[in-house]
Parts: sequence; C-alpha cells; structure tokens
Amino acid sequence: MLTFTTLASGSLGNAALVSCGDTHILLDAGISAKRIAAGLAELGIGPRQLSAILLTHEHSDHVSGLRVLSKKAGAPIYATRPTLWEWYKRNQCDEVKALFRPQEAGIGVQIGSLWAEPFPTPHDAAGSVGWSIAGEGGRMVLCTDLGYVTEPVRRAVAGCDLLVCETNHDVDWVRSGPYPYYLKRRILGDCGHLSNEAGAELAAFAVESGTKTVILAHLSQTNNTPARAYEAVSLRLMAMDCDPERDISLWVAPAQRPGPTWSPKEASVC
Ligand SMILES: [Zn+2]
Ligand SMILES: [Zn+2]
Repeated sequence: MLTFTTLASGSLGNAALVSCGDTHILLDAGISAKRIAAGLAELGIGPRQLSAILLTHEHSDHVSGLRVLSKKAGAPIYATRPTLWEWYKRNQCDEVKALFRPQEAGIGVQIGSLWAEPFPTPHDAAGSVGWSIAGEGGRMVLCTDLGYVTEPVRRAVAGCDLLVCETNHDVDWVRSGPYPYYLKRRILGDCGHLSNEAGAELAAFAVESGTKTVILAHLSQTNNTPARAYEAVSLRLMAMDCDPERDISLWVAPAQRPGPTWSPKEASVC
C-alpha cells in the first residue's frame, strides 16, 4: 500500500518519504542527514533501506543533506540532468555522482513497487520538476517550487489521490514585508513560488478531478502561516461546495518535524 509522510516542509528545508511495501523513496533531501535519519527512524526505516532518492531541483532547501545522506544510504539519485549537474558543480563529489540516474521530465521509471514520473515546473532552477508517484492503491503528486501552474502540471495533477500542493506565501504579506525588492519580484514572478491563492486554485482543480487529500506545503516562514494558507484553500473549496473538513482531507505539512502518514485506503491520517 502506498504511503506518504513529510519529514520537513517549507523554506527552511524539504524532505518526504513515499513507501510501498519494501520500496522506500526519499523525495528531496533539504534538511541535514541527521534529521532525515531521525525522521526515517520514527517510521522504522534506516537510510540503507532507501530504494532511491528523488530530487525536484538543486536549491539548498531541497539538497542540503544529500551529500552526507547519500554516502550513508548508497541509494540511486534520480533527478533531471541539469539538476544533477548543478549539484555536482557545487559539490564535486564523485562518490555521490556515481549514484546519479539522470531522468527526463515526462519519462517514468519503475523503482521497486513504485512508478515515479517527473514533470517540468517553472522555477528559477536548472531543470526543476515535480514528481508523480504511483503504487498499490493510489497515486500522489508533489507539486512545490513553481511560479505558476502550467499545462504539464495540470496533466500530472489531474486524477491523483493525494496532492502535495505549494502554498508558499500571502501576496499582500510579500508586498508589504521586509524582503528586498529583487527578492519580492523573484517570489511573485513566473519562476518563483505559488501563492496561497494560486495553490488554492490548483487544489480546487485537483479536487474537481477526484483528489481526496490535499497537503499544503512549502510555506514561507516570513510571508505565511499555516492558518493563513489553510483559510485561503478552505474558502476556495467551499466556493465550489466542497467542505474541506467533511468531503476531503486537507492539512498543512509541519515545517520542521514529520507530519502524519497518508495512505489511500483511509484517505486520511493514520
Ligand atoms: Zn524550495
Ligand atoms: Zn526552489
């Protein structure tokens, strides 16, 4: 049975685990290897049991623990060629490079009992992607770090059972907040991040297509709060007659600790 757990989510670091039977895939490694190992231990898994590590892109909040963790885990690392190259340029570590498995957006790969397929995302990184992962009982989609929702993103999201949906910021809070102008432009631009409202639109699209669980993810520490993101998405869903507390499961991934484990059967927390 497919299960999904976030280990950390937000601008300070991202990592999540997707499992199905003996297959365990780590999605991003953007917190320290020590914290990833501790999060995995809570789920009863050691780093050497990881079947693969999948990366969305090379920003440090997605790869900061990769070097140390990979040496422990020895698992193959799947990402697009530009993402892997950017990482290698900065780290020059041949031991980790030997684990690279370049993957093209739009082409899936079987990893144990899971099928993983990257799709392109508009973001200020080299070859950034989201991941669609299917296993026994369902399919989940990780969709964070994108400036806007493109057609390939909608295609990947449509009909998934679980959507991990970026709600990075409140647009007004960014505009009136402390960030310098260039950073505000970057966050609000087409290669930045989805706002609460944009995330709410994507969540609404997913729910209309049959999605039963939405986890709000990658919240800014400065320009958002879990309550603010939850409210924006709830209001959007209620406008289409969907009660987020009754008709679906909606929650916000905790920023710095593991979240609840999702599985398709319960369509909620276990
Ligand atoms: Zn990020
Ligand atoms: Zn990023």
